[in-house]
This record gives sequence, structure tokens and C-alpha cells, in this order.
Amino acid sequence: MTSYVDFYRQSIDQPDTFWAEQARLIDWHKPFDRVCNHDRPPFVNWFEGGQTNLCHNAVDRHLADRADQAALIAVSTETGTEKIYTFKELQVEVQRMAASLKALGVKKGDRVLIYMPMIAEAAFAMLACARIGAIHCVVFGGFASGSLASRIDDATPKVIVSADAGSRGGRVVAYKPLLDEALRLSGHRPEAVLLADRKLAPMALVAGRDRLWTELREQHLDAQVPCEWLDSTAISYTIYTSGTTGKPKGVQRDTGGYAVALAASMKHIFDGRAGETYFSTSDIGWVVGHSYIVYGPLIAGMATIMYEGLPTQGMDGQPNGGIWWSLVEKYKVTAMFSAPTAVRVLKKQDPALLRKYDLSSLRALFLAGEPLDEPTARWISEGLNVPIIDNYWQTESGWPILAIANAVEKKPSKFGSPGIPMYGYNVKLLHESTGEELTKPGEKGVVVLEGPTPPGFMQTIWQDDERYVETYWKTLPGRMVYSTFDWGIRDADGYYFILGRTDDVINVAGHRLGTREIEESISGHALVAEVAVVGMADTLKGQVAMAFVVLKDAALAQDAAAALKLEGEIMKRVDTDLGAVARPARVRFVTALPKTRSGKLLRRAIQAVCEGRDAGDLTTMDDPTALQQIRDQVAAA
Ligand code: ATP
Ligand code: MG
Repeated sequence: MTSYVDFYRQSIDQPDTFWAEQARLIDWHKPFDRVCNHDRPPFVNWFEGGQTNLCHNAVDRHLADRADQAALIAVSTETGTEKIYTFKELQVEVQRMAASLKALGVKKGDRVLIYMPMIAEAAFAMLACARIGAIHCVVFGGFASGSLASRIDDATPKVIVSADAGSRGGRVVAYKPLLDEALRLSGHRPEAVLLADRKLAPMALVAGRDRLWTELREQHLDAQVPCEWLDSTAISYTIYTSGTTGKPKGVQRDTGGYAVALAASMKHIFDGRAGETYFSTSDIGWVVGHSYIVYGPLIAGMATIMYEGLPTQGMDGQPNGGIWWSLVEKYKVTAMFSAPTAVRVLKKQDPALLRKYDLSSLRALFLAGEPLDEPTARWISEGLNVPIIDNYWQTESGWPILAIANAVEKKPSKFGSPGIPMYGYNVKLLHESTGEELTKPGEKGVVVLEGPTPPGFMQTIWQDDERYVETYWKTLPGRMVYSTFDWGIRDADGYYFILGRTDDVINVAGHRLGTREIEESISGHALVAEVAVVGMADTLKGQVAMAFVVLKDAALAQDAAAALKLEGEIMKRVDTDLGAVARPARVRFVTALPKTRSGKLLRRAIQAVCEGRDAGDLTTMDDPTALQQIRDQVAAA
């Protein structure tokens, strides 16, 4: 076994050798002439001259060895349905979809916007686009008309693929009216809308524009649509960032570099082997869904589970906190990928559920998307008894920046740390105002990447190279580096700790404090389930910290005396951990925190409410009552 240090060093010092070797993990129609072209920084072209196809690598190339093996397992606890597509069947469906898109006028380079629930047709549509060289733009199905309209205008799709409805917690969410409204709001008009009809909600079809998937599919039952060989640098898709910190950015990705990056990560980081089953609980609307529900596992020849539903609901629609574990048992899942939010939800369930199922197939649980607090990490790690691999990345990167590559060399995880830099990523910590590199353990700086960024990393912002350079590469003085906009520190062993977003810093009487550090301290209190800390303008101190806490037992906060006592305990805790300056001015108890639909805390919205400002773009927000609770608490104070 190679040592990870050597593996990593080669990726940074000899990227051409390193990535040429990784490129062998996928099929190339035409070999590349140049591994890395970094002549025009910060732009990078990977595998120039090469031709390949993502759909070929995800589907067709597996037919020789595993045509009848499961490829896509579509499970919906919302509709109580479960369907397995083998690689052969997947290829057939994808060709039907590809032929249908072509019949609707879609050509290479055209955009196809996909606004769909977590159903198999969504994956068919993505793979069909990849097959014919169309650029897919998946918009998260939970978004309302306003967010959808702005994305339609940005992507200017020739065709939109959608469905009558999605469903969440047994409640039908009609998509078609939302789409119609978005199309009324947007300036751009697609030539056609292709609709999957799940018969969950009535659909009014617009004559001449709206077409039913069942009908087009019928017309193309035996369609043979060969994979279009694409330049490695051809755009495969665009996807928007979560919008946690502001206006979402349209991330653009290539074809060959992405395929290689995913194949390599499946091998070295996720340790997923052909013939096994991978289960990512994300949504195709997010980057994790692109990389590790659809493309990554399939490229690796694995079956992938596509799951529609809550983590706490059974196939019969009844509450069932063990549903995910039952799927792990049933499909012998070897690698599972989820988010800390989901684990926190499960943590509120009966712990016996973890022992009810045979989870012996599972080798690791990967968690990403937000900070993994230690109590949550410990709980799930003790419950599953497999390594919990926190991994840190962004929509922009497409695959983990920090993690542990156990398949290269086994390394221990450290609670609270998403790990060490992954191969290909030249991660540095820079001083925020001088741009100087911080090399001593424990020094806090901005996490940045030195170019060239590795394969799979975003090429640019869709149709806006200038915004790409200005937004990401010019924020630190004196050097052109990619800023992640996250704070971090590194310990003596090289493990990184992410301390929050660079804009989540508050300034209390001249002291700069990361809200995340305060949250970490508060979440260590035994009765606390979740917490959000934001800065609020204060005439005396500049800013003060405000803490909004969700208790494990919500009833506790109903008792005013108990709440007061708890507030005192929490303040004392922060005093001890971080000092009196960090102590929140107020601790308020709520039953839920406002989050994006991907489960990220919407601190900017909470802060705006605290300061009596407009909460801004809330279209990506999940549960509006959570923000209302904050409003009520602030008004009551
Ligand atoms: P926007 O860029 O639109 O404001 P966003 O940053 O939330 O939204 P994503 O690309 O989905 O959009 O999220 C990436 C961010 O999520 C990272 O920059 C980091 O702040 C956070 N993050 C992801 N994984 C982890 C992790 N394992 N630990 C801590 N933070 C994480
Ligand atoms: Mg971001």
C-alpha cells in the first residue's frame, strides 16, 4: 500500500503523472494529448484533446460485465414504491429519454433544465443529456417559482423536464403550477416542456409546449441513441450553489475531468467497488446528488439508491425512524453518504433502531455539507460502529477537498475535523488581511486553494468568466488563490478544522469571534439539540452574539424558570470555553431553526430578522415557521 503522504505529494508535485494514471479509471474514445493546461490561470483545461462521455462511463461500459446487475434502485416512501433498474434496463430508459429530447429539438450544447422530484426519470434525464452532449441544469425540486424563474433565465434551456408533483412527508407538492408560474415570470421561453405524470396532482397541459413523457417514451421504445463523443473540456452541466451566503452562483463543470475525478474519488475516498450498493441520501438538486447519487456510483459500476422521502417514514407512509437502515440491510449497502442534519433528525429517534437491522455490509458513513458537531458524530459512530468520514467540499469543487482517503491508507478520523487535504487540492491557510501563508499549527486563516484546481473542479461561472475570477480568485491581497470563504485551522498532524464562513464573524467590542466557535461551545451542553449564533448590531459594543437554541426536549423551554436557568448555564459554558466577550447577549429557545432546503443554517436570514432588516431571498428556505419563531422571540425581547 502507498502511503497517503506520497500519494498526495505526487498529485501536487507531478500532477500530470498523477492524473494521467487516474485517467485510466475511465474509458476514453480518443486519448488526450495534454493532461493539464494551466497556461491561462486560474482557468484549467484537463485532458485536452481527449474525448469521452459521462453516460458511456456510467452506463454502457458496464454492460459487458454487469448488464443484469442492479444499477438504479428507486425507492419512494412517499408513494410506497420501489423499482430496480439493471444496467441494461437503465441504458434502455436513458436511450428512450435521449431520443425524446432529440425529438424535441435538443442538440449538443443545448441546455435542458431539470426540475424534478427524486424519481428515476430525473436520473434518466440527466444521463440522457450527458449521452447526447446537452448541458443539464438541475434545479432543486423544492424551489418555488421565483428561484426557478431566475435559473430558467440564466440557463436559457431549450427544453425543461419536470413532473406533475413531488411529495414530502405525505403531502403532495404540485410542481407543474410552480413551473407554469415560473415560466410566466421568466423572460426566457423553452421550446418544450417534457412531463412525467406520477398521477399525484392534476396537470393542465399547455398546447404546443407541454408533452407527456409516457407518450414520447412510447414513441421511442426501441430507440438506439449512441453516446456522442465529447471533448474532455465540453460542458457537462451547470448547478447553482446553495445560496447560504447570498445570490447563488452558476457552477459550470467539464466532462472528462469530472469523470476522472469521480472515478478516482470512488476508488480512493469512498472505497466503492463494482457490484456493491451505494446509498446517498442527498437530492439530485444538489452537487452531492450529481456526484454521488448519479454519476460517481454508476461510473464505479455500483448500484445507487435514489430515495424520495423523509428519513423517518416507512414504505407504508407511517413513521419509521429505521427506514434508511432497513435499506442498508436489504441492499447490502457498503458506503453511505448523508448530512449532519439528517443524522441529527435520526438522533431524536429510538437508538434501538440502529440495532434492529443487520448493518454489517456497511464499511463507512460519509457526512458532508455542514459542520459535524462532536456529539452527533459520537452518537452515530457508536451506533453504527463503522468509521464516520466527515468530508468538506463545495458545489464548486464537485468532490471532497478535505476527507480521509482510507482506501489509499487507513488513517484515524478526528472528531470535529473533516480530515486532511485530498490529492489534487493544494490547500493553504492564509491570513485574511495580509494574505500571508499561515504554517504554524492552530493558526486561524482563510482556507484557500492554490491553482491548478484538480479535475472535477468548476471550470468557471456559467457565461461569466469575469465573475468567476473576481468572486473567487481576487479576494486575498497579493496572490491569486481560490478562496473557499471558510475559516480553518490545521493541527500538528495536518488535520483541518473548519471554523465557519468568513462572513460569519462577529465583532464584539473589537474582538473578532467566529459564530461557529460559539455554537460549538453551546452544542456541548447536554440538553441542547441544535443552535444558531448570529451577530446583532449593538450601539455599545458594535455587535453582540445572539443564540437560538433547539432543546432535545422542547417542553423544557415552556417553563420560564427552567428556561432562565438554562440560559444562565449556556452563557456560563461559553464564558468558560471562549471568554466573556463571546457570551451571547441573549439565549432564546425555539423548536426549529431556519435552514435551506439542503439543511444549511440560514444565518444571514436570522441575523436580518434580529436587526429588523428584510430577510432577503428566502426562496431556498425550508420551513417558514422556523423564521417566524425567531421573529416572535425578537419581538418579545
Ligand atoms: P453559497 O455558496 O451559495 O452561499 P453554500 O456555500 O452553502 O451556498 P454549498 O456549495 O452547498 O453552498 O456548500 C459549501 C459550504 O458548506 C462550504 O463552503 C462550507 O462552508 C460548508 N461545508 C460543507 N461541508 C462541510 C463540512 N464537512 N464541515 C464544515 N462545513 C462544511
Ligand atoms: Mg459557498
